[in-house]
Amino acid sequence: MLTSGGDAPGMNAAIRAVTRSAIFHGMTVKGIYRGYKGLITGEIAEFKTQNVSNIIQRGGTILKTARCMEFKTPEGRKQAFETLQKENIDALVAIGGDGTLTGARIFAQEFNYPVVGLPGTIDNDLFGTDVTIGYDTALNTIMQCVDKIRDTASSHDRLFFVEVMGRECGFLALNGALASGAEAAIIPEISMEKDQLSDILDYGIRTSKNSSIVLVAESEVTGGAMGVAERVKKEYPNFDVRVTILGHLQRGGSPSAQDRIMATRMGVAAIDALLEDQRNVMIGIQNEQIVYVPFSKAIRNEKPINRDLLEVLRITSI
Ligand code: ADP
Repeated sequence: MLTSGGDAPGMNAAIRAVTRSAIFHGMTVKGIYRGYKGLITGEIAEFKTQNVSNIIQRGGTILKTARCMEFKTPEGRKQAFETLQKENIDALVAIGGDGTLTGARIFAQEFNYPVVGLPGTIDNDLFGTDVTIGYDTALNTIMQCVDKIRDTASSHDRLFFVEVMGRECGFLALNGALASGAEAAIIPEISMEKDQLSDILDYGIRTSKNSSIVLVAESEVTGGAMGVAERVKKEYPNFDVRVTILGHLQRGGSPSAQDRIMATRMGVAAIDALLEDQRNVMIGIQNEQIVYVPFSKAIRNEKPINRDLLEVLRITSI
């Protein structure tokens, strides 16, 4: 097993569950360090049950993670395959986001090799699963940060733009806004449809309030919180605007109960899937049930946000 790409709270719970479930079923487990990089360089160790003791509560990943350009080349993937053969590894569990699963899919096809993926990303942007490992913890972190920002925002009558992660998808921004009682969210799914900022400032907030908080998903289209704030300074100069970029704060911390439980269920399901001869699938959870989602679906399809939530936010922020 390996963790790759951006780390997410709950990855350790997944590592623990994969290890223990595999050993429970009589298999041998190896941990590959630093994602696909360790697969190429052979940074691999056998994992026993005690290797994963006392990690369920820890953020990050004990296997470390990395971004690996070589794995994007056929030569790099060939080296990775040779490592797997040399180490007598028969199947791979890859824990990571969109990029990790894209790499897993290409590798699995190229070498006809069994790979099962686990969705490990705070962005919640993988199709076929209601939630991803790390999303709930990140959402809670955002909520706690915004609660604190609200104290100062309301003391000074300011308009705060708080930037959260989610370059392509607004789950964190939209649900973060709902959870923290923020006035609005500016999300990538809507940015091509309408000018969310002018909507908010012309018709929305500020009519009845002195201070407002808007969650902004990082985005090349809107320029994120900085881009939006620059626009306000030019177009609505009477607002006292402030920007907070939560950045890597959002990735850290001890995983929430939900993330630990989900990651544990998914880790066990990964081994079940391999025992059932499933391959090239991502483990997902839909309506509380474990599902197997082909890599092609998990990666390619855009996961839609629930647009009803936009309306709920609009109604509750008047
Ligand atoms: P995440 O998994 O969090 O989305 P990245 O997008 O950085 O993170 O992807 C993690 C790693 O997956 C990359 O560093 C690379 O090794 C591998 N990867 C991503 N895209 C591809 C691809 N198209 N082909 C092969 N490997 C890929």
